[in-house]
Amino acid sequence: MRKDLIAGNWKMNATHLDAIQMVQKLSYRLNDSDFDRVEVVVCPPYTALRSAQTVIETDHLRIKLGAQNCHYADSGAFTGAISPGMLAKLSVRYVIVGHSERRHVFGETDADINRKVKAVYEAGMIPIFAVGELEAERDAGRTEERVRSQFAAGTSGLTQEQVNSLVVAYEPVWAIGTGNTATPDDAGAVCTFIRELAADSYGDAADHMRILYGGSVNPGNVAAIMAKADIDGALVGGASLDPDTFASVVRYWV
Ligand code: PEP
Repeated sequence: MRKDLIAGNWKMNATHLDAIQMVQKLSYRLNDSDFDRVEVVVCPPYTALRSAQTVIETDHLRIKLGAQNCHYADSGAFTGAISPGMLAKLSVRYVIVGHSERRHVFGETDADINRKVKAVYEAGMIPIFAVGELEAERDAGRTEERVRSQFAAGTSGLTQEQVNSLVVAYEPVWAIGTGNTATPDDAGAVCTFIRELAADSYGDAADHMRILYGGSVNPGNVAAIMAKADIDGALVGGASLDPDTFASVVRYWV
């Protein structure tokens, strides 16, 4: 049985002081039964991780901590980069890897992403591994081709055990931050396709692997998206910045 997972990607928003308030407000709006049903993850910027960790641990909150990126090396001459081990020491549980902004704004390649996915596991954390097609690729009917190649490259060399815990986020690039959500049917079909890809390479692990949809998810569209059999949660950008709104996304069945 796969537990729903809803993760907020704050991107380059929120100081460490903002983060304290955001985590506290979010926790006030959620109760134990919400956490029993959904794993709730927030992914603040690096500079806010320590403050968020402190609030979570001091107040015994059930919110989990994610990071938005990492380097693949343990340490070394990589000015400005943060290693998986540094994140793990801050009780970070999940790391987003391969977000479209990392791929398209920062030029990360499939090979970089695969190294990061493996490094996240080696540090004892779980990747939220993002894939998704560009608008032109969708228009050309190449969504499956694109997702297949990203999935194969990003997961290359993983073990079945690792894929059991893997979280894949299907995020069509044209839907991120645009207000243009994929229809639940289209999103559900691509997520089913991703699970089939995983089954081809990793057998039963595909049934355990969680698949999120991301791309302009909000309180008004989340329930229809979550109703799809192969969608196990959401990766939420803009709508995660306001704790009230994000809590409504988390409580999608209400
Ligand atoms: C994201 O950043 O992963 C995302 C899906 O953003 P938004 O919800 O704003 O489209």
